[in-house]
Amino acid sequence: MGLRPPLTEQAGKGLRSVEFDDIYFQPEDGTAESSHVFLEGNDLPERFAAMDLQRPFVIGELGFGTGLNCLTAMKMFLDRAPREGRLELWSVEGYPFSPLDFTSIAKDHGQRTPALADLAARLSHLYPVPRPGLARLDLSPRLTLTLAFGDVDDLLERSSFAADAWFLDGFAPSRNPAMWSPSVLRAVADHTRPGGTFATFTVAGAVRRGMEAAGFSLARRAGYGKKREMLTGRLGQAQPSIQSGTGAVKSIAIIGAGIAGAAFAHGAHQAGFRPILIDRGEAGNGASGNPVGLLMPRLEAADNPAARFYRDAFFYALRFYWDHTPEALSPLGGTLACDGTRYKKICATGLWADEDFAVIDGVTLHSPHATLLRPRDAVTTLIEEVEVIRGEVIDIFPSDNGLTCTLTNGPQQRVEADHMILTAGPGSALISPLITDLSASRGQIDLFATSEPPRSILTADGYVAPYAGAAQKGGIAAGATYDDVPLDHDPRPTKASSEINRRMAEALMTQRLDPPFDQRAALRAVTTDRHPMLGVLGSTRRQADDPINTAILGVITGLGSRGLVTAPLMAASLIATLTGGVQPIERQSLRLLSPHRFAERRDRRAGHKPS
Ligand code: SAM
Repeated sequence: MGLRPPLTEQAGKGLRSVEFDDIYFQPEDGTAESSHVFLEGNDLPERFAAMDLQRPFVIGELGFGTGLNCLTAMKMFLDRAPREGRLELWSVEGYPFSPLDFTSIAKDHGQRTPALADLAARLSHLYPVPRPGLARLDLSPRLTLTLAFGDVDDLLERSSFAADAWFLDGFAPSRNPAMWSPSVLRAVADHTRPGGTFATFTVAGAVRRGMEAAGFSLARRAGYGKKREMLTGRLGQAQPSIQSGTGAVKSIAIIGAGIAGAAFAHGAHQAGFRPILIDRGEAGNGASGNPVGLLMPRLEAADNPAARFYRDAFFYALRFYWDHTPEALSPLGGTLACDGTRYKKICATGLWADEDFAVIDGVTLHSPHATLLRPRDAVTTLIEEVEVIRGEVIDIFPSDNGLTCTLTNGPQQRVEADHMILTAGPGSALISPLITDLSASRGQIDLFATSEPPRSILTADGYVAPYAGAAQKGGIAAGATYDDVPLDHDPRPTKASSEINRRMAEALMTQRLDPPFDQRAALRAVTTDRHPMLGVLGSTRRQADDPINTAILGVITGLGSRGLVTAPLMAASLIATLTGGVQPIERQSLRLLSPHRFAERRDRRAGHKPS
């Protein structure tokens, strides 16, 4: 994947690709062309109006280019779909524009079609530095776009979603055959719902044969402008749509009000669920109650599912907190320990952009994106519109209308909901026997007064971050320690941990520190392979004859010391699983995080085949 050369717009001839010697859209009126070919070609005006409110409407696109089709689809959706409806787009692009070029392209879209101006401005604000893989952008509570940067075959393979409609918008098949190969068209069919449709500007024989072979029935329609014909198609029979207004609001009980629970509850609320957040204490009373925490990239020396997950989670977390809790952020930048050999390997993965790091010396990198987050403030803001119930959950069982949990130490003895999500850190394993391979680690941070705090975040074995807290003058936060403890341990600060933090901070800052003026200890949840646990633990049909209404027990735990970074993307992922939306996490990374991986590994070792 390479960055595109600077824009090549010749007066009146439209934006032209140098590689493919073709135009992105008709120069006379790209918006009208987009509406005719892709929106009307998929019958979107009528389908948006009559959409099924139980799930988002999903559009896939081959060739994001300048984003014009995505913008026209979003605008039409906002105009036509019921207010409770949500639209999720997935669009692949192998030769993405730089953010600088995209800014001027988006501005141009807005000037040519003023009705698109607001959406174009929002999209250009969110448009990321292109890095290979998935970048999920939340344009509004009703609109998300997952940009898939890289080659079309590879990205279809990495992505999980089922589209209601497809925009096939590669350059002309004669100039760009890779975008229309039989394997790509088969993969399009694999990512289409029964009854889903496609539309494209071309009626080329190879495309017709490919789409037919992939299972679509085809129809020709009048083309746009000088083009006589265009092609549309449907996979199987048209599905009856559930009429607007019949989408009953589903409830989700979320057990544990740390950052994972708060991010999930916030997303579930935006997705149209009724979240009920349950915790035995104040929201954020665990590790997410710390006054400060870090958003730092985690660097892997290879391109693998872990590297991609932590990288995508990091950039999504930055967008998420800037969108929803900007007051809880301080963008300070930070340093990471990294020797030259390792740095070369990290660069060789191709997963990062040049602007992601600066080399300070042979053993230190500077990350301009590193950011300080005040998690307690973030959690409080995220759950402002969420119902919170105080109580300690001791078990969960299937019941008539979904799942029910039993509570002690609170005003209520039971809570019933359509779905339940465990986000209770190490305590998750005490509530559900389905969770295995989870343990607790006690972590302590200490606050020290100093008149010379560093300007940015420093990390090595631990971290030091400028944080004045209650101290009148300067101060730092330093942490965090690791001590294995039982799952039900009650964490308290200790002098020994303060000593460890003080020595670590003195070494990083090369200055002496007095004893801390404050400290805090909390439990983290850690899995045996150190990666988080995300996914569906189990599901039960509400009634034997009701295949749609399934009650799901999900989990997000094992966040270790990276929860602030990983929680937002994992929450978005689990919501996509519940709603049937576009998965923001790559397929291979989802397997890495599956709550069933430990049992599957044990089965494999014992010689069983997975069922
Ligand atoms: N839909 C776009 C819009 O609204 O501006 C225009 C798309 S343009 C006609 C085709 C796009 O397909 C280009 O942006 C091109 O870089 C991309 N493309 C071509 N071959 C590709 C491939 N093999 N994998 C991914 N993207 C590819």
